[in-house]
Amino acid sequence: MSELEVSTCVCGVRLPVGSGPEHAYVPASPACWEAFGLLQTDEYERFGYSSAHGLIVDSYMASHPGSPDRRNRQSIVLHVVGLCAALEFNFGFQERVRLLRSLAHVDYPAWDWQGPPEDGSTVLDLMFPADEKDLLARANSWAASVWAAWSPHAQQARELVLSLKP
Ligand SMILES: [Zn+2]
Repeated sequence: MSELEVSTCVCGVRLPVGSGPEHAYVPASPACWEAFGLLQTDEYERFGYSSAHGLIVDSYMASHPGSPDRRNRQSIVLHVVGLCAALEFNFGFQERVRLLRSLAHVDYPAWDWQGPPEDGSTVLDLMFPADEKDLLARANSWAASVWAAWSPHAQQARELVLSLKP
């Protein structure tokens, strides 16, 4: 009897080992990265860029830390700050884009997370939503779990949002 070989991603996703490409600095397993691609394709085809898009990207990126590449460090801070801005400051699409742009050129130290989220939520919980409202509800729930896993850096994230709030 042969067993399917399973890979566990840094975000907690467990899937049969994928053969797809790896990202240059997002340390996701190929199977997890492929799932994220499928989710985004489905989202775009059905809803365009949905109201959940920012939350989905921020949650995915923020749950894949740990690459030694500097771009991963930068990306983690930006997307954790993006989650903070959305969940605690109600930032909309334009405000979020402006915030991330203004933070993109600073060199940040690595932030340690204690994740994956305690409730075990991952990108797989967002697959095949019934409609856009369902996608947004699931994205909010996932975002809250990822944000909670970053609680050791929550105050730093808040300060970065506040430093740029107009
Ligand atoms: Zn993953």
